[in-house]
Amino acid sequence: MQDAAAKPLTNGTEYIESLRGRNLKVWYLGERVTEPVDHPVIRPSVNAVARTYDLANEDPHLATVWSSLTHQRVNRFLHITETVTDVVDQNRMQRKLGQLTGTCFQRCVGMDALNSLFSVTFDIDEAHQTAYHQRFRRFVTRMQELNYVIGGAMTDPKGDRAKGPSAQADPDLFVHVVKRTEEGVVLRGAKMHQTGCLNSHWIVFMPTMRLTPADRDYAVVAAVPADHPGLTYIYGRQSCDTRALEGGEIDQGNAKFSGQEAMIVLDDVFVPNECLFMDGETEFAAALVERFTAYHRRSYVCKTGVGDVLIGAAALIADYNGVSNVSHVRDKLVEMTHLNETIYGAGIAASHESKPTSAHNYQPDDLLANVCKHNVTRFPYEMARLAQDLAGGLVATLPSEKDFENEETGPLLRKYLKGREGVSAEDRARALRLIENMTLGRNAVGYLTESMHGAGSPQAQRIQIARQMNLEEKKELAKNLAGISTYDGVTERK
Ligand SMILES: Cc1cc2nc3c(=O)[nH]c(=O)nc-3n(C[C@H](O)[C@H](O)[C@H](O)COP(=O)(O)OP(=O)(O)OC[C@H]3O[C@@H](n4cnc5c(N)ncnc54)[C@H](O)[C@@H]3O)c2cc1C
Ligand code: SF4
Repeated sequence: MQDAAAKPLTNGTEYIESLRGRNLKVWYLGERVTEPVDHPVIRPSVNAVARTYDLANEDPHLATVWSSLTHQRVNRFLHITETVTDVVDQNRMQRKLGQLTGTCFQRCVGMDALNSLFSVTFDIDEAHQTAYHQRFRRFVTRMQELNYVIGGAMTDPKGDRAKGPSAQADPDLFVHVVKRTEEGVVLRGAKMHQTGCLNSHWIVFMPTMRLTPADRDYAVVAAVPADHPGLTYIYGRQSCDTRALEGGEIDQGNAKFSGQEAMIVLDDVFVPNECLFMDGETEFAAALVERFTAYHRRSYVCKTGVGDVLIGAAALIADYNGVSNVSHVRDKLVEMTHLNETIYGAGIAASHESKPTSAHNYQPDDLLANVCKHNVTRFPYEMARLAQDLAGGLVATLPSEKDFENEETGPLLRKYLKGREGVSAEDRARALRLIENMTLGRNAVGYLTESMHGAGSPQAQRIQIARQMNLEEKKELAKNLAGISTYDGVTERK
C-alpha cells in the first residue's frame, strides 16, 4: 500500500496541505484545474471537510473514538463501530457538522462504506475461504493511522435502467474488471455524483445493485488512491457556483462552505490484491448495498444540522422584517422544527436499535434507517418552502452586492431595503442570501437534491419499507382484537 512515509494529519490546515500538488486530472467548465484546493469554486468544499478535522480537536468526545484496530483515538469518520453508542454518536457528530457548515461535509459515505464492508468481507471469507477481511482490516488500520479521508463510490452511470450491468449495450456503464493477473485486477468504467471525491485521499469503489452470476466482473470492491493517474474527475456544476468567481461574499450566501460532487472515470486502473475486497462474489453485492444503505440512510440526519441553520435563518429574517411574534410566523417555525426533529428521531432511533454483525461491529436498524431517509426526501423541501414563505420575494429578486457598493445605487438600496428599525439592509441581505443559498443556490444541491437522491431515490426506500412492513403479523394483531378467527374462509371458533 502507498503512503508508507506519510505522516498522520492532525488538523484542518494539515488536511488542506495534504491535498496540494497531487496532480489530479480535474475538469471544470471545460478546463483542466491545476490545483483544486485553490480554485475559488472548489475551495469551500475543501473547507467543509477541513471542519471535520478541526471538530475532532475542539470536541474529541464527539468526533474521535478509541479504536481497537490502532489502539488509539481516531477520527470517528474512520472508526469501525464497536458498540451501539458508536453508531448513535456518528449521528450526533453529523448533526453538529451540519450546523457548523450548513452543507454536506462529505465524509459519511466513506464512513458508512467502511462499516458495511467490515461485515461483508467477513461473511465472504466465511463462505469462500477468501482473505478479504484481514486485508480490509489492514487497509482501515492504515487509514485510521494516517487520519485520511475516504470517498465511497457506489453509483454507476447505469445506462438503460431496465437492464443489469452485463446486459448493457456498453459494458463500461458499470465499473468492472477488464483484466486479472496474479498481482491484482484492472478496472474500467465510471462512477457518478461522487461526493467529496477530490477531497479524499482514497476512494473505495463498490457495486451499486444486486447482481446475477452473469455480472461476475461487476462484483468488485477496490480501494484506489484518489491521485491514481487512471482517474479523471469531471466536476459537477452547482446552481450559482460561479458567484464564487465574482469577488465579494454576500451574494454567495455561504461563502465558506459547500458540498462537492464529481463524475469519476476509471481508465484501466490497476488495483493490487491487497486493495481488493471483493472479486466475483456476486451473491454478496445485495448484502453490501443493503448494509451500506442502512448505514447511509440514517446518516442523513446530517440534514437536520443543516435544517437547524435554515430554521435559524428563517427566524432571523422574520425578526428583521419585524414579524417575529406574529402567530402564523411562529407556527411556521414550529412546523419546520417538527419536520426537522422527525427526521432526526427516525435516524437516531435506527442507530439506537443497532445489532452486532457476525464480524462484531454494529449495524443500524434497516427499517428505521429507510424511514429516516424517506422523510429526508420530503421534509427539507417543505422546510425550504416555509423558509421562502417567511423570507418574502426578495430572496429571489435582491440586487447584487456590487449594487450595494455602487455609489449611485448603494444609498437607494440601503434606504429601501431596510427592515425593522435597528437592522441594516446589509444584514437583511446576508440572511436572505443564506436562505437563497440553501434553497435555490449552491447548498440546495446538498439540502434538497442530495436529500432526494443521495443514498438512493425515494422508491428505493419504499421497496425496503415494503419488504419489512410485516403485514401478515399486523393483520393477526387486528384480527385478534376484532375477534376474527377465520383463516382462508374457514371459521375456527375459539
Ligand atoms: C448530491 C448527490 C450526492 C451523491 N453522492 C454520492 C456518493 O458520494 N457516492 C455514490 O455512490 N453515489 C452518490 N450519489 C448518487 C445517488 O445514490 C443516486 O443519485 C441515486 O442512487 C439515484 O441514482 P441516479 O441518480 O442514477 O438516478 P436514476 O437511477 O436515473 O433514477 C431516476 C428515477 O428513476 C427511477 N428508476 C431508476 N431505475 C429504475 C428501475 N430499474 N425501475 C424503476 N424505476 C427506476 C428512480 O426511482 C428515480 O425516480 C449522490 C447523488 C446526489 C444527487
Ligand atoms: S449528504 Fe450528509 S450523510 Fe452524505 S456525506 Fe454529505 S453530510 Fe454526510
